[in-house]
Amino acid sequence: MIAAESRELVTAYKKLANKEFKLRGTIRTMERQGGGEPVSEWKVGDDIKLRPYTNDKYFSGIDKMRSTLYHELAHQVHQMWKKNGRRYIGNRKNNPPLEDRLSSMFFTKFHGAAPGNIGGRGIERKNQLSTTYATTNEFEWFAESFSAYMMGRPDLADPDLVKLIEELLDEAANA
Ligand SMILES: [Zn+2]
Repeated sequence: MIAAESRELVTAYKKLANKEFKLRGTIRTMERQGGGEPVSEWKVGDDIKLRPYTNDKYFSGIDKMRSTLYHELAHQVHQMWKKNGRRYIGNRKNNPPLEDRLSSMFFTKFHGAAPGNIGGRGIERKNQLSTTYATTNEFEWFAESFSAYMMGRPDLADPDLVKLIEELLDEAANA
């Protein structure tokens, strides 16, 4: 059990390290070419076609890399938070508890038949998110908001996820 868990962590770490290294290379190229792309000032209500795909576009230089690292860390958080043993792929049993919670929140907010969601409100709500990637699924939704929050831009995070993230942080601090 422990061996399998630690293999999982090592794989996740390697993936993270590769991404980090590649992104640092991209930043280096940008710096050599005399500055990167302009930092996005997109706001809710602006043309949705101009919305950044990922939230590193809201940051410059090394902060792009930090925002990507926080995004990847978020995936670790939803996979590992209060996880009790291995999941069973296929029948969705013993999913990590935070993943079940995120799936239900995402479905209710964007796809559910809940009363507040009638008449395409889900799409309207997706248009309130600050990146297009966040609209993909519950885990990218969480990762994009987690990263924004950790980068000191809670205004770029989904307010429902800000509440959840603060709950997790309070629990972590008092554990
Ligand atoms: Zn992701």
